Amino acid sequence: MKTDPVEALTLVAPSYYRQFKCIAQRCRHSCCRGWEIDIDPVSLERFKALGVSGISEGPDTPHFTLTESGDCPHLRSDGLCELIIRHGEGVLCDICRDHPRFRSFWTGRVEIGLGLSCEEAARIILGQAEPMRLESIGLCDSEGVELSAGGSGGAPGFEDLPEDERWLMGLRERMLEEAAQYDDPMLARLAEYLIYRQLPDALYDGRLEERIEFINRGIEEIAEEWERCAGFEERCEAARSWSEKNEYRV
Ligand code: SF4
Repeated sequence: MKTDPVEALTLVAPSYYRQFKCIAQRCRHSCCRGWEIDIDPVSLERFKALGVSGISEGPDTPHFTLTESGDCPHLRSDGLCELIIRHGEGVLCDICRDHPRFRSFWTGRVEIGLGLSCEEAARIILGQAEPMRLESIGLCDSEGVELSAGGSGGAPGFEDLPEDERWLMGLRERMLEEAAQYDDPMLARLAEYLIYRQLPDALYDGRLEERIEFINRGIEEIAEEWERCAGFEERCEAARSWSEKNEYRV
């Protein structure tokens, strides 16, 4: 049977994107704690074949049943993942493999980024000395799953996008340029991150003004917290905590 070829889209990311690697047992705010992880159908079959325990199957979406203390049942006391230890990283379900990445979908391209609610991502995002630079990092399918890595050229221009996307991309460029002007480089990186992450979804939900207010509120509230922080690590933690409390409710 002939199958349709997968449409390959350009995958765009901030230039720091490839620096990320999960710090696993060294993470103080592990995403293996307190989050109920849904399991995608392909991974569910794999888990069943391997006899993986601790899965709740319904009536809700299949997910790992958290322990009484709210941990993933496969999180070991030394902070490592029992599933990875036994079967290798390839065993993970989509959500575990993907965190802390997020995606924004445009015509012909998908933008990917690291979410600030992960402490290691926060260090990378906020520790950049230079303004955010977007680049093409390879090809992906329509879900934003990477098909091939390649190139680190500049991001494709937005002249060929439909008018509404071109307009929003133009607005975002202007907001990013303004954000880069903050005297405090860490505040500039924070503002760039919020703009890059939060603005594009206005294409689908039409909540542009609300999203801009959210970005401005984030910058203000985190900057206020930072006045009480002693250094880089404390500032990263304040930003991470704000993101965890606020960004997943936008
Ligand atoms: S929050 Fe980030 S660094 Fe911590 S365990 Fe999850 S992916 Fe790894």
